[in-house]
Amino acid sequence: MSHDFLQPLTGSFACPAAENPTVAMIEAAFRHHGLPWRYINCEVAPEDLGAAVAGARAMGWRGFNCSIPHKVAVIDHLDGLGDSARIIGAVNTIVARDGKLIGENTDGKGFVRALRQICDPAGHRAVVLGAGGAARAVAVELALAGVTHLTIVNRSAARGETLARLITEKTPAEAVYHPWDGTFAIPAGTGIVVNATSVGLYPDVEATPDIDHDSLQPDMVVADGIHNPPRTRLLQAAQARGCRTADGLGMLVGQGVIGLKYWTGIDADAEVMRQALLDLDL
Ligand code: NDP
Repeated sequence: MSHDFLQPLTGSFACPAAENPTVAMIEAAFRHHGLPWRYINCEVAPEDLGAAVAGARAMGWRGFNCSIPHKVAVIDHLDGLGDSARIIGAVNTIVARDGKLIGENTDGKGFVRALRQICDPAGHRAVVLGAGGAARAVAVELALAGVTHLTIVNRSAARGETLARLITEKTPAEAVYHPWDGTFAIPAGTGIVVNATSVGLYPDVEATPDIDHDSLQPDMVVADGIHNPPRTRLLQAAQARGCRTADGLGMLVGQGVIGLKYWTGIDADAEVMRQALLDLDL
């Protein structure tokens, strides 16, 4: 009987890495689909990123994720970028294609994939809270998915204005920046509201973005990027007002499904991956 003890490798480079649950989700999918692949969660300091990428190349890794603080810095160590990663200016998924390491960004694609289970974003107007890395990815992918108008609400004007300009110049959508100085009322006619700030993230789970909950209308879809905890105070408030909601676990699963497709070619079972995350009891 012949054996093959050489497992195809994927993984993640981040700092800190210990609280990242992606390994549980991806390895659950590998097991479920009978793939002998592995996902290695690695703590990589900023000054070691180049060596880590060289190591992945040397060992023939099929691909890997990059998380905080490597999403922009990793670009210098890659051979090319996918279209939306180029617009976003950040990479979270690296794919080995024909011996080249290509950077993709699945944060926003995963978000849109999860959102599509609830509504088609095309033709809607959206409000994006935040202008950091997650907000950039989400806003660009919403624009590429056909959202017509985005309002970027952020404390830092510089980051908010930069993101609004990026959307208007590089995508078919129009975007404006709105300062976040006091409670923000969601404008009537908004179809999609996204919290892409870090507000509500464990351990500060009682925190909620400073928006007027009474401005949430039942025909709005409210989404949260925070996956820990999945049922944020914002989503609870939105549900209480009759809005449909999309949680951060859906975004995390969505980007995992897309990453697995890039690496292995399979359409992974999103429910198995979501259950693997729920089993962690975040
Ligand atoms: P960044 O540090 O790049 O950006 C943080 C953003 O949050 C900025 O816009 C910042 O505003 C804003 N912010 C922070 N604190 C406050 C506050 N008190 N009030 C208003 N705005 C605030 O982080 P990322 O964009 O990388 O990540 C943001 C969150 O997205 C993370 O908490 C993470 O959990 C989540 N995320 C989820 C993913 C998923 O798959 N579910 C994937 C990636 C991220 P300012 O510019 O003014 O400082």
